[in-house]
Amino acid sequence: MVRAAVLPAVGAPLEITEIDLPDPGPGQVRVRLAAAGVCHSDLSLSNGTLRVPVPAVLGHEGSGTVVAVGEGVTHVSPGDGVVLNWAPSCGSCHACALGEVWLCVNALNGSADVHARTADGTDLHPGLNVAAFAEETVVQASCVLPLPEGIPLADAALLGCAVLTGYGAVHHAAQVRAGETVAVYGAGGVGLAALQSARIAGASTIVAVDVSPEKEELARGAGATDFVVASENTAREVRGLTGGQGVDVAVECVGRATTIRTAWDSTRRGGRTTVVGIGGKDQQVTFNALEIFHWGRTLSGCVYGNSNPAQDIPVLAEHIRAGRLDLASLVTERIALEGIPAAFENMLAGKGGRALVVL
Ligand SMILES: [Zn+2]
Ligand SMILES: [Zn+2]
Repeated sequence: MVRAAVLPAVGAPLEITEIDLPDPGPGQVRVRLAAAGVCHSDLSLSNGTLRVPVPAVLGHEGSGTVVAVGEGVTHVSPGDGVVLNWAPSCGSCHACALGEVWLCVNALNGSADVHARTADGTDLHPGLNVAAFAEETVVQASCVLPLPEGIPLADAALLGCAVLTGYGAVHHAAQVRAGETVAVYGAGGVGLAALQSARIAGASTIVAVDVSPEKEELARGAGATDFVVASENTAREVRGLTGGQGVDVAVECVGRATTIRTAWDSTRRGGRTTVVGIGGKDQQVTFNALEIFHWGRTLSGCVYGNSNPAQDIPVLAEHIRAGRLDLASLVTERIALEGIPAAFENMLAGKGGRALVVL
């Protein structure tokens, strides 16, 4: 038996309880978690904004050590450090055939599996495939990526969602070039990773926007050259920081209609807005036909940073080893499983960067 944070039903509080994990079957890997980041998507799954089969063990941003492998698993061995990938690609659907593995239609099929049971025998599903809010987990081999050398095991958890997403939003989706100006909306875990990534890309002006003034120090530490406290005047303020014309690129990490609209309004004529935040169906963004023509801007979605984790994690590792990307500074709190509900509250209140559950 191992301890885990279980979502018993949508909208119910998480329960910290003992779960029973089977030995890894063919094509599966058992991992002892070192750490798991608390992502906004975990909160969205617990309150029903996003849906997975329940009861489920949440947590999808994890790292740890392989303790056992099932038949046929050859790319990792017991003792290896690994990063968990919550969106494994099938390799055979239309998106995978196009190389757009982040859009794989089969990526979340594993969430319907039963991967563990509670002490009283209730079936448990692995949240977003990997069930990382637990001391140990059993996952499909495709959810396990070898940890590159020289990266601290616990902090590496962030590579599995926040950093891959923030980096990918800047590097893959917006394709920020050296000298461009960038505004990042929302300075949580993903936003801070996007700020660091804009700095890596050589952006000249990097504006961080957040509702909480206390995020300024964190944001500047991650590479922001300017900080704007979100208000009705945000778009004008951001344009003012670029001589009135607007930023080349806006990265929206909040998922709210008003923020998406503000991000778009803060870009220059021909600017690009990438939406990383996951909002609800009630968040309607409106544009008039004339302004779409006049401004010549683009607005695009971004899933998991439009990343191929197997290709991108070694690249991120090189940025970390060279000192360009810093994982530890994204973590503002190290907590136990029992601390996850309070971390959700902090997220709702707009406080802090990433909370990391140390297991
Ligand atoms: Zn996430
Ligand atoms: Zn696929």
